[in-house]
Amino acid sequence: METWVYHFEQGNRTLLSLLGGKGTGLAEMSCTGLPAPLGFTITTAACKAYYLHDKLFPEGMWSQSKAALKVVEEKTGKRFGDSANPLLVSVRSGAPVSMPGMMDTVLNLGLNSNTLKGLIQLTGDERFAWDAYRRFVQMFGEIVLGAPKEKLDRAMEQLKAQFNTKRDADLPVTAWRLLVDRFKEIIFGETRQEVPEDPEEQLQLAIAAVFDSWMNRRAVDYRRLNRISDDLGTAVTVQAMVFGNAGNDSGTGVAFTRNPNTGEPALFGEYLINAQGEDVVAGIRTPSPLAEMAETLPATYRQFLDIAHRLETHYRDLQDVEFTIERGRLWMLQTRSGKRTGKAATRIAVDMVKHGLISRQEAVSRVSPEHIEQLLHPIVDPAFPATLLALGLPASPGAASGQVVFDADEAKSLASSGEQVILVRHETNPDDFHGMVAAKAIVTARGGVTSHAAVVARGMGKCCVVGCSALEVDYAKQLFTAGNLKISRGDWITVDGSRGRVLLGQVPTLDPELDDYYYTLMDWTDEIRALKIRANADTPADAHAARRFGAEGVGLCRTEHMFFEGARIEAMREMIMAPNAIARAEALARLEPLQMQDFEGIFTAMDGYPVTVRLLDPPLHEFLPRHEETVLAITDLKLKLRLAANLAEIDALLGAINERERILVQIERLGEANPMLGHRGCRLGVVYPEVTEMQARAIFTAAVRCQARGIEVFPEVMIPLVAFASEFKHQEAIVRRVAEEVCSAHGVRISYTVGTMIELPRAALTAGEIAEAAEFFSFGTNDLTQTTLGLSRDDSARFLPGYVDRGLLTDDPFQTIDVKGVGQLVKWAIEGGKKTRSELKVGVCGEHGGDPRSVAFFHTVGLDYVSCSPFRVPIARLSAAQAAL
Ligand code: ADP
Ligand code: MG
Ligand code: MG
Repeated sequence: METWVYHFEQGNRTLLSLLGGKGTGLAEMSCTGLPAPLGFTITTAACKAYYLHDKLFPEGMWSQSKAALKVVEEKTGKRFGDSANPLLVSVRSGAPVSMPGMMDTVLNLGLNSNTLKGLIQLTGDERFAWDAYRRFVQMFGEIVLGAPKEKLDRAMEQLKAQFNTKRDADLPVTAWRLLVDRFKEIIFGETRQEVPEDPEEQLQLAIAAVFDSWMNRRAVDYRRLNRISDDLGTAVTVQAMVFGNAGNDSGTGVAFTRNPNTGEPALFGEYLINAQGEDVVAGIRTPSPLAEMAETLPATYRQFLDIAHRLETHYRDLQDVEFTIERGRLWMLQTRSGKRTGKAATRIAVDMVKHGLISRQEAVSRVSPEHIEQLLHPIVDPAFPATLLALGLPASPGAASGQVVFDADEAKSLASSGEQVILVRHETNPDDFHGMVAAKAIVTARGGVTSHAAVVARGMGKCCVVGCSALEVDYAKQLFTAGNLKISRGDWITVDGSRGRVLLGQVPTLDPELDDYYYTLMDWTDEIRALKIRANADTPADAHAARRFGAEGVGLCRTEHMFFEGARIEAMREMIMAPNAIARAEALARLEPLQMQDFEGIFTAMDGYPVTVRLLDPPLHEFLPRHEETVLAITDLKLKLRLAANLAEIDALLGAINERERILVQIERLGEANPMLGHRGCRLGVVYPEVTEMQARAIFTAAVRCQARGIEVFPEVMIPLVAFASEFKHQEAIVRRVAEEVCSAHGVRISYTVGTMIELPRAALTAGEIAEAAEFFSFGTNDLTQTTLGLSRDDSARFLPGYVDRGLLTDDPFQTIDVKGVGQLVKWAIEGGKKTRSELKVGVCGEHGGDPRSVAFFHTVGLDYVSCSPFRVPIARLSAAQAAL
């Protein structure tokens, strides 16, 4: 028969997929002799079997669990359900990957009216025993039987009001008795079920509830969002209870072995005296910093320091641990690799290499693209005289402004209509997750740096401030007060997650500063990766930014972007409107020096690196005003004409009307049913060769001038939207002729190449032929995706997300490359191209060049480089290194 149950001592890291994260951590701690309470783990395989067999426990699972429980009974000397010396347990869920959204832990299981008496006798502390019992009834009712949390919470609030206190600790035993009765009534009233008296039945129900929670909505949503398979299943851990609520020499806490915000190598965490379980993270009372434990419980603190150190050395990574102190005795309840900010991730990785704990390769693999992205987050402009509303705990760095909302659903709906919102709560819980995803930042009035809000926000790299005790949040009135200021729903605030500040209004933000840890780590990525990283840059300013982020060239310079600016668009329009070749030549002559200047700026910024310049690409009508606008303007002018008072005015108006009508004729002439597949790309250059010529002259003149200033230039002229080799050759001939003319006029040589963008399936399919003339290929994966899927990127936004939600697609193909379809074409084109020209240079210049999973694919097909927006360059550098590892 299959083994469904493992004692802690039987497990280890290699069994992660079977025992889940929590089970594995407890197994490793038990095996290394750390003080973890005894227990066992029911495997993820049992969970899977449960779903395969109509939600029945697989054969043998229950008997194995009982046998395992017996061992715990023997070793602890307690017995499950025994009225004299009862064993109590916790029932905990734990998947192989960290998975918020599953069942919460049930503590103190095994209590009933009988064992309660035993607990009272055993501890001599009636109040404690009743507190434990009311917690059990509450958790079991809520978590296993599904009674509504709000109702139970309200009963608790009412009780406190009745006893005239705000603190649980002030409630006498009579209060707990009353509360247990009240809980039982509510639970029965709401669920028509009772908390069973029989401990075995309690245990069975709790285990089944953990299995069931694997498929609850929150968990399923989380898995979709994070691409986690439904097939993993969850393990269930059953563990002997220890009590942090047994008096003032007891407590419970959470700690990180290093600072998860900054990466500083010092223990970081908090604890609550005389508290159990989730009291610390629930934000009910604000806990004390761990450092205070050095004074209150010095011996335990020292022991804890030692354990933290041992765990970190054992795992060679930042650990996030839970512990409980029962009457001065320390117990470890959980250890796992800790979530951290980008700043902490780079620092910890670099520090651990310096201390010989991990290799450079490991360091690079420990930092995620999201971490790097976070480092590039903005900060609040320190020079701005902002009004401070509240100072809280800096839970997750970054800065964001938005309108205040108090409800997760509202945050979601406002955000999806394009608003920027900040979610403000007393504290958050897993039901707020979707609102936290939608919000730009999160603020809570209560809770510490390990509260739900803090942990979740850090995981998402979202700016967050918690524990702003100065804020009085009033959900009913939809406002919060800070001192004598009132902030209502819809008002703007700014959150400074790096310093824990909540500021009034919309405060400007600045780009972040990168530290030495970041630069060191990025240097290591450069040592490891095979792919080169370039940037898409259309202006000298973009090119400078790209160099700062470590780009090794420009992979795509979209020349038309230069034409949209200011006076340039006028010259461009003149060119388009030109009635004949002579007039067109005149307009082009005005554009040429402008283009040349830009190229000079970009070449200068990229001194020593290649720059791929793409010739004019979009349909010409994009440079003209919109049709409706022009028609309206003409109607308007005609109206004014009727009211005109004098000849001069009439003259001016007639002139203006005439001009607009000329434009309208052009707009109508250039109008296309399907511009994306119309007269654009090299098709423009074929019809207007003088445009290609002008651009080529601007490129080579700029190159010559730069070279004369001692700058190394490597222009790569790229012909867009080629479908036929003949189109390429036609354009190439013009480019080469102009290059010759410019070079010989100046008596210099420029080393340059002419290549093409592969963005049509036909080009990919006939790559071998195109490579006879083209010296490089750059995959324009945006258009290649559009044309391969026959799907317009702009229009797909309406329905494609629905495909992802329904599971028809795992990813948006415009974000992550469609490996099977578009990827296949890329592969084919590389192979075909290299067969003809072995030294063919190949790169990617679509948005996919900055997407980590796409980069991983591009690495495997042997591209030379990927090119992405300047701000994604560091992410691409890291992704390329990770792909190489
Ligand atoms: P989560 O995955 O939400 O962290 P846990 O199973 O770790 O859930 O437990 C919730 C809380 O209960 C934690 O504070 C944990 O330390 C505490 N806890 C779990 N098992 C025990 C136990 N056997 N004795 C005392 N406290 C426990
Ligand atoms: Mg929890
Ligand atoms: Mg935990």
